[in-house]
Amino acid sequence: MSKTIFQKICDGELPARIVYQDDLVVAFHDINPQAPTHVLIVPRKPIRNLAAVTAEDAPLLGHLMVKAAEVARQLGVAESGWRMVFNSGPDAGEAVPHLHGHILGGRKMGWPPG
Ligand code: 5GP
Repeated sequence: MSKTIFQKICDGELPARIVYQDDLVVAFHDINPQAPTHVLIVPRKPIRNLAAVTAEDAPLLGHLMVKAAEVARQLGVAESGWRMVFNSGPDAGEAVPHLHGHILGGRKMGWPPG
């Protein structure tokens, strides 16, 4: 199967403004930001989306969430408020089939999401 855009970013084959990376996850600025702060955090493991995770992914997902919170603190949005969004499947607007959490902050957000 061909690599997704996010797999290529993880592998250093496509440029991205990386804000954090380790051996399990990579966080980088979204190319089309929907908020003053809009960072994507992805596992290096190519899981399709949140609907495709299994019990064996639990430690990886826990790590991803902890690192997302660290990124939110690092970028200064943790105190004022931020949102973590996983679009999973076509109705949710999933465009890239590689699990990714959107870290959004820096503006007041509405609810429910569109
Ligand atoms: P989705 O709709 O799948 O939840 O979100 C995909 C996100 O990936 C979108 O917010 C889109 O702007 C972002 N994106 C798509 N292609 C690229 C790219 O090549 N680089 C970066 N940094 N973000 C991308």
